[in-house]
Amino acid sequence: MNIHEHQAKAVLKEFGVPVPRGQAAFSVDEAVKAAEALGGPVWVVKAQIHAGGRGKGGGVKVVKSLDDVKAEATRMLGMTLVTHQTGPKGRIVRRLYIEEGAQIARELYLSLLVDRETSWVSVVASTEGGMDIEEVAHKTPEKIATFSIDPATGVFPHHGRKLAKALGLSGDLGKQIGALLPKLYAAFVAKDMAMLEINPLIVTGSDELRVLDAKVSFDDNALYRHPDVRELRDETEEDEKEIEASKHDLSYIALDGEIGCMVNGAGLAMATMDIIKLYGAEPANFLDVGGGASKEKVTAAFKIITADPNVKGILVNIFGGIMRCDIIAEGVVSAVKEVGLKVPLVVRLEGTNVDLGKKIINESGLNVIAANDLSDGAEKIVKAVKGAA
Ligand code: ADP
Ligand code: MG
Repeated sequence: MNIHEHQAKAVLKEFGVPVPRGQAAFSVDEAVKAAEALGGPVWVVKAQIHAGGRGKGGGVKVVKSLDDVKAEATRMLGMTLVTHQTGPKGRIVRRLYIEEGAQIARELYLSLLVDRETSWVSVVASTEGGMDIEEVAHKTPEKIATFSIDPATGVFPHHGRKLAKALGLSGDLGKQIGALLPKLYAAFVAKDMAMLEINPLIVTGSDELRVLDAKVSFDDNALYRHPDVRELRDETEEDEKEIEASKHDLSYIALDGEIGCMVNGAGLAMATMDIIKLYGAEPANFLDVGGGASKEKVTAAFKIITADPNVKGILVNIFGGIMRCDIIAEGVVSAVKEVGLKVPLVVRLEGTNVDLGKKIINESGLNVIAANDLSDGAEKIVKAVKGAA
């Protein structure tokens, strides 16, 4: 789960991390009131969306008068902000963060994330912070330093010294970063974050470290023990279909293609997406209905797929193990009866109760194209979709 910058900063502040003062605003009026309360003389109006790269897209503006706060708030609220992280469709700006302007002497990069291979927390740091970290990683990867912290023992002073060196901070600033790292690490672990990215971490004109931008995502599997974090969820930033899928405990990710996929098992789902591409089309989603899905869950999954207007054809690819083919067949038939079927449907069933599954589909009167194996299924659905176009 992702949260907004202003929420991330509030979380970090609880752990004693230095962040600029600021207030969230949902209307132009609120933005002006927030600016008045902060007092100026410099403010930053920041669009709050769950994506980075806002500065380059016109979503972060430094201003020097209340009139300009008002003008920028008016311009940004309701705008569709396109950044390199939003994709071409962009995101509608529904809230702003009004923050005091900081004097920036240096912009650094610092992030913490879970290294799944070692199960440690990785620290990534660079002296080249600011808006072009992707380019730095691409062109001058040697400017990015990485080390890991063992969660069994936590942060030691030597980690702080290593980080200070990586960021080129000495003297008092070295001490400040030494004090900051344990706070960030504590927040990261206590809140079960998956990623904490600070870009930029700045050195101010008076040699103080400040977190100027913060992007946080949480481990969904740990959300059950953080009701306070769950409260921060902003569903307007999420794909409607993904929200619906999460209610039914389905692993679903919306994609840009035209072929809807219903598959059991993440590995098979990946293979199905690959083979659709191999035959010249693009998957519209990743969907793993899981092992012991019920007929209701399968019905919900099928409805989510058919509700997507981009879907021009559906491939059901089931290898029945724990998941029984007859349950899948019943779910598909019941969903089609409820919502209808306007696109070609190819079904490939194999494994447990396959004959019963095929029988249910055959006797349902549905217009289904049967496939013998994965390759046959992909070929048939791509042909059905491309042929219809
Ligand atoms: P994004 O990463 O989405 O572009 P940031 O919050 O990093 O958004 O802002 C982009 C740039 O705007 C920063 O690199 C910094 O130079 C400037 N900026 C952001 N917040 C402030 C602030 N409070 N005071 C001064 N400059 C800021
Ligand atoms: Mg940033």
